[in-house]
Parts: sequence; structure tokens; C-alpha cells
Amino acid sequence: MKFDNQTAIVTGGTRGIGRGIVEAFLKEGATVIATYAGNDEAAQNCLNELSEFQSRLVIKKCDVRDENAVKELFHMLDTTHPKLDILINNSGIRKDQVTAMMSLDEWNDVIETNLTGSFLMSKYAVLNFMGNRYGRIINISSIGGKLGLPGQANYAASKAGQIAISKSLSKEVAKRGITVNNICPGFIDTDLLADLPPEQRKEYIKDVPMKRFGRVDEVASAVLFLASKEASYITGATLEIAGGL
Ligand code: NDP
Repeated sequence: MKFDNQTAIVTGGTRGIGRGIVEAFLKEGATVIATYAGNDEAAQNCLNELSEFQSRLVIKKCDVRDENAVKELFHMLDTTHPKLDILINNSGIRKDQVTAMMSLDEWNDVIETNLTGSFLMSKYAVLNFMGNRYGRIINISSIGGKLGLPGQANYAASKAGQIAISKSLSKEVAKRGITVNNICPGFIDTDLLADLPPEQRKEYIKDVPMKRFGRVDEVASAVLFLASKEASYITGATLEIAGGL
């Protein structure tokens, strides 16, 4: 899986799973546009740690919830990187709360970041991809979108929604050489789960047949496969990377 002369956008590419995907693409020769929301320190660390690839790495702040910011990003790329090949919709947040206590803000924040963000990024990416009659979109959904863990009505709805978007979109663009797929990670060790109380973490591990949380590189390698030219007949599909959960 070589990505020489290909350009990939990875949203939320400065930390966690996104950071792992960015590094994997860079190692396979791609040029990468990594976006983030507001954590400048993490963005700077990412840039420093990946400095050996600096000629092929662009890091850009872009809130995926904001259509104007997304438009501005693609407008900039029209000049700097006019041929885009791959979009990884990875940025995401959780704001867990049982439904009866969940505020509308907690609901909206998660839906807008995880679901509306994927819609906006996909919309503008597809407009670019159509010109080349080639493209790969991969949504980093979640096993939570299929299982529906308690306290995650907002998160589960956003993640199931990403799968639904890709089923529709994959059919709209199939004839143009563009594929749209989903990855559903299980529990992966990143900042996103850093607030889990140790007892809850142990409970979750008990439920995983492999008896451990996953690593970002274990997600990244599957993302690279779906993003490769070799995965040309896979679209509208969902791949679980969840240790058997
Ligand atoms: P992290 O919290 O480690 O990183 C999240 C990334 O998303 C950061 O780069 C963050 O930017 C970015 N981000 C958040 N909000 C926005 C926004 N509005 N606009 C642009 N970027 C944004 O998360 P993970 O790496 O763990 O998760 C990545 C994806 O994988 C998410 O979609 C998550 O739902 C999914 N996932 C994760 C699992 C896990 O166990 N970790 C399991 C299943 C799915 P900044 O640094 O600026 O905040």
C-alpha cells in the first residue's frame, strides 16, 4: 500500500487515532493535511515529532462544525493541493450522560462535531474528488454506534449516523470511482478514554474477548487498507476493529 503522489486529509489528525493514521500515511509516501479544533500544543507536538516528514505534512486548525471554516480549508487546498485523494473523517468527541439528564448542549455538541462535521467535510471533498473520478472517504465511526452503550445516546446516534451517511453517499458517487467506508473501533487507548474511572475501564476490558484495549496503529493499518487503490471494490462497508467486542 503505497501512497506516493496521493494527498490525504485527516480530521483530528494531531492526537490519538488521527495522529496514528497521519503517521502511517506519511510513512507510506502520502502528503497529509492534518486538521484539529483548538489544542495548539498538541498540534505543535505532532509537527515536532513528525518533523522528518515536514515537506509532506500540513497542519491546519479547522473546526469541522463550522461550514465557513471547512469551505476556507478547501479553498486554501484548491491552491496548495488541488488534487485530493483521501478524506478520513476522524475528529470526534464524547460528552456522556444518561439520556434523562442530558442537556441539549451535550446532545448538539456531539452531533455537530461527529455527524455534521463528517457531512460537511465529505460534501466539499466529494466536489474535489469528482473532477478526478477517484477518491476514498473513510469515517471513523465506533462500535458504540452499533451497540449503544448506556450514557451515550448522543455519541451512539452520531456514530450510527456516520454509517448511514456513508451508505447513502457511497451509492451517489460509486460510478465516479469514489468509495465511502466506515471503521468501527472498539476501545482504543487515547485521550478520549482518559477520563474513564479505573473500575469502568476494568469492566469494559472484561467485555472484550481479547481482554485489552486496542492501539492506534491497529486502527491505522485498517484505514490504510480501505484508503488504498487495492480496496477498489469495497464501498458502503463497515469494518469493526474491536478485539471481538
Ligand atoms: P482524541 O480525543 O484523542 O482526539 C480527537 C481529535 O479530534 C483531536 O485532534 C481534536 O482536536 C479533534 N477534534 C475534536 N473536535 C473537533 C472539531 N470540532 N473540529 C476539528 N477537530 C476536532 O480522540 P480519539 O483519537 O480517541 O478518537 C478519534 C475518533 O475515533 C473519534 O471520532 C472517536 O469517536 C473515534 N473512536 C474512538 C475510540 C476510542 O476508544 N478512542 C473508539 C471508537 C471510536 P484538538 O486536539 O484540537 O482538540
